[in-house]
Amino acid sequence: QYKILNNTVSITKSYIKSYIKQGQVVLDATVGNGKDTVLMANMVGDSGKVYGFDIQEIAIEKTRELLKENNLIERAILIKDSHENLNKYISLKLDFIIYNLGYLPNGDKSIVTKSTSTIKSLKSSLNLLNYNGLLLINSYIGHVGGLEENIQIENLLKDLNQKEFNVLKHTFINQKNNPPILYIVEKSS
Ligand code: SAM
Repeated sequence: QYKILNNTVSITKSYIKSYIKQGQVVLDATVGNGKDTVLMANMVGDSGKVYGFDIQEIAIEKTRELLKENNLIERAILIKDSHENLNKYISLKLDFIIYNLGYLPNGDKSIVTKSTSTIKSLKSSLNLLNYNGLLLINSYIGHVGGLEENIQIENLLKDLNQKEFNVLKHTFINQKNNPPILYIVEKSS
């Protein structure tokens, strides 16, 4: 039985499924193994579009293969570049954005998202987010640099004007071993 509150990944999935509608334009800022990208491509339908970024060739290739296997490649634009440069590639407004930070599961654990590029990218994403759009951030604090990245994210988010953004922080208070924190930002006006 699939439990929504098992972890931040399952909560993210439930938001992808309940929020994304046909025809929307969405962004996976860290495609990794491509699971979220495929789910997002399913939800946007033939008239929608998914942008996906990753700095690792292996992540882009895995995601491309997974999209092809599911006949969803036509709905996706995969970009091998840092998400800090997303303004170079995207001019459309975005309805839904996810960041899954940290390292690639089963991949090179020394390649992790970094505070400076994450913050630069998040600022661009907050600008591109549509009214009523959602931005989700899975922030991992257990690896080297993760806690620092998390502090910078929280500093950015806590200063967002509450007239423009609703910001929610999900923390598991009874889990051991530094569970990730999930932030959800809604652009309200
Ligand atoms: N959501 C993915 C999945 O379902 O498999 C997991 C993503 S994984 C936690 C984080 C990914 O971020 C890694 O694949 C890593 O290569 C990528 N990454 C690290 N720095 C990045 C950057 N500056 N821009 C884009 N992707 C980056």
